[in-house]
Amino acid sequence: MADYTSQSILVVGAGTFGISTAYHLSLRGYKKVTLIDRFSPPSTDAAGTDINKTIRFDYDKPQYAHLAEEAMEFWTSNSGPLAGLFHRIGWIMAASDHAKAFIDATYQNRKNGKGAVEYISPEEIQARFPEFKGNLKNWKSLWGSEAGWAPSDQALVRLAAAASINGVNFTFGKNGHAVRLLNDTKGNCDGVVSQSGAVHTADKIILACGPQTENLIDTKSEISAKAMCVAMIQLTEIEREKYGNLPMVDHFEMGKSPTCSSSGHKFPPISTSLCLQWLSGAAHRNISHSPPSRHADPIFHGMLFPPDQHGLLKVCSCRYVTNRHHSPIQQVSIGRSHGEFPDDRVPTQIQTELRAWIRELLPELADRPFCQTRMCWDAATKDSNFRLTPHPAHPNLFIATGGSLHGFKFLPNIGKYIVDMVEGRLDPELQSLWAWRFGSDPPASTVERHPFPERDLGELDGWNGGKPDRALL
Ligand SMILES: Cc1cc2nc3c(=O)[nH]c(=O)nc-3n(C[C@H](O)[C@H](O)[C@H](O)COP(=O)(O)OP(=O)(O)OC[C@H]3O[C@@H](n4cnc5c(N)ncnc54)[C@H](O)[C@@H]3O)c2cc1C
Repeated sequence: MADYTSQSILVVGAGTFGISTAYHLSLRGYKKVTLIDRFSPPSTDAAGTDINKTIRFDYDKPQYAHLAEEAMEFWTSNSGPLAGLFHRIGWIMAASDHAKAFIDATYQNRKNGKGAVEYISPEEIQARFPEFKGNLKNWKSLWGSEAGWAPSDQALVRLAAAASINGVNFTFGKNGHAVRLLNDTKGNCDGVVSQSGAVHTADKIILACGPQTENLIDTKSEISAKAMCVAMIQLTEIEREKYGNLPMVDHFEMGKSPTCSSSGHKFPPISTSLCLQWLSGAAHRNISHSPPSRHADPIFHGMLFPPDQHGLLKVCSCRYVTNRHHSPIQQVSIGRSHGEFPDDRVPTQIQTELRAWIRELLPELADRPFCQTRMCWDAATKDSNFRLTPHPAHPNLFIATGGSLHGFKFLPNIGKYIVDMVEGRLDPELQSLWAWRFGSDPPASTVERHPFPERDLGELDGWNGGKPDRALL
């Protein structure tokens, strides 16, 4: 087998995929690896920079379930850079209507797997966790006892430190902020130019820039920045103890009304195919023709994490937000840099929806102030599969992103597959799963777990750091 370890490798982006790649390159014996980012780990712009993320292996696709089982071995190991970070507390995955098919598909896939999931009724949930006093009547849920969470910001720092100890070079700040690709005389990419003007060249370049990938290459709709909105409630010490044993909850959707109303329109009763049509772009490409929505939608969905050691209870909206209207590239959704826009916060409509969801689950916390809110951007693909692939036009340029709101748990092992891809020996099945699809729509059979149409920042209010929103749409 060819030995590539004498080659120089430049990894652009020190988030989940970039740090994991640098770490695995170092394990494989590469001696000339440089990792650059605008921010040092935990990068303020990285999707993984958060107080916690779910680590679980309940997937409807067997490839991700296997990958997650492999990752779980690292998370639960008593040795290695991530030792001690994983907290196994179990999780509830729930759907009230449209995403029930996803629950069933996941059950079928996981019923014989490691840490098998089981159906759990609303009565059983409330018997086991009496703090959930809300109305769970229509919940169809799975219980995964093996799942847990990890403090994702700390995990990024730990793995980056391990890569550094193994000899990976780091550059951050203006020198590490890539502003354009550099091409050789044949027009092939052989490096990047940074904001300071510094030039980084290498034999191979791996772009792991997440939701800001489009700033460097034209992804032609292959990757789109999507945010999930996060809000924190500060609990008292007594409350921290009271809610400390709750599991994580991911409630994909609950439609209160037969309308799937974004942009003020009334839609017929929502169907998976309609939502797939939205998600596949048929609707959101025309978003500038829609009148702005100025209300919260009567549909609930959310994620809950139990309080951390500081008593911060995190909730998260699973309805995606795009950044097309305010994007520097017309109609292309690019993640907004927290470094550039530190005052960004969660739109008021989504705060209202999150409160409505908390009321369904933990009514006594529904009116508590949010002490922090944040839009957290990730690179999403239309089929939620990652994109780990050679660039279609540049032989030495590789793309490693498309976490699609579920990529963090693979921090310990995704880099191994990225290095395989760069070395041209990725398993053919994974190669096809993570291939560049030139923006094509996913097959209609895809089961979407978050079926509601995404909304654009251009149709939401109050996210702009308290500044009046500009004239929209
Ligand atoms: C709210 C939210 C909750 C999530 N929850 C979970 C969960 O519970 N479990 C789970 O498994 N996954 C979860 N995810 C998904 C997961 O966090 C992401 O899929 C994953 O972190 C993506 O990694 P990445 O490396 O592609 O991108 P990122 O982690 O975003 O990293 C991109 C990096 O590139 C850098 N960069 C960008 N442009 C440049 C440039 N031009 N030059 C230099 N550097 C640059 C950025 O500064 C950043 O550090 C969640 C995501 C969000 C948004």
